[in-house]
Amino acid sequence: MKTDVFIGLGSNLQEPSAQLAGAVAELAALPDTTLIAQSPFYTSSPVGPQDQPDFVNGAVWLSTGLDPHALLDQLQAIEQAHGRERFSHWGPRTLDLDLLIFGNHVLDDDRLSVPHCELPNRDFALQPLLDLKPDLTLPNGTAVAALRAQCPDNRLRRLLPPDYS
Ligand code: ADP
Ligand code: MG
Repeated sequence: MKTDVFIGLGSNLQEPSAQLAGAVAELAALPDTTLIAQSPFYTSSPVGPQDQPDFVNGAVWLSTGLDPHALLDQLQAIEQAHGRERFSHWGPRTLDLDLLIFGNHVLDDDRLSVPHCELPNRDFALQPLLDLKPDLTLPNGTAVAALRAQCPDNRLRRLLPPDYS
């Protein structure tokens, strides 16, 4: 049985758009997983420390047979392969992959909170989700569109294909 899942992507180091494009291809190639759709990319102002470059953000919609923790393992392996180092909390990073929504699962353990607990505060995650599925809801029935309407503003700017520069 497969589950529809939504992954948020972010980068603000080492050609962020290329980091995201590579990550989308790697997510599409995960075992027992199909890429349903990829959102446009956006630039956004950093959350937390302001002395760092703007981020590029996007999201993908996958259908996967992996369980939530196995998928998180895969996301963290992709982050590592992109040379991610933990410099500081909410600091710059080559690649951040967040498991935003995993079907109707609600999880909260020491490795994984799903839906992602910061989702209501992050327009750079909510907007790409809306682009992917305008009627998307959380397991509790909250519409992503309603969260987007009341979310703090991170000065999102949509990047245009083909080069996302
Ligand atoms: P953020 O994405 O909020 O900037 P980090 O990527 O640095 O923070 O946080 C990574 C940690 O968050 C990991 O240790 C991971 O176990 C935990 N985590 C909890 N819930 C999730 C989730 N839904 N998606 C990704 N990581 C999560
Ligand atoms: Mg993360």
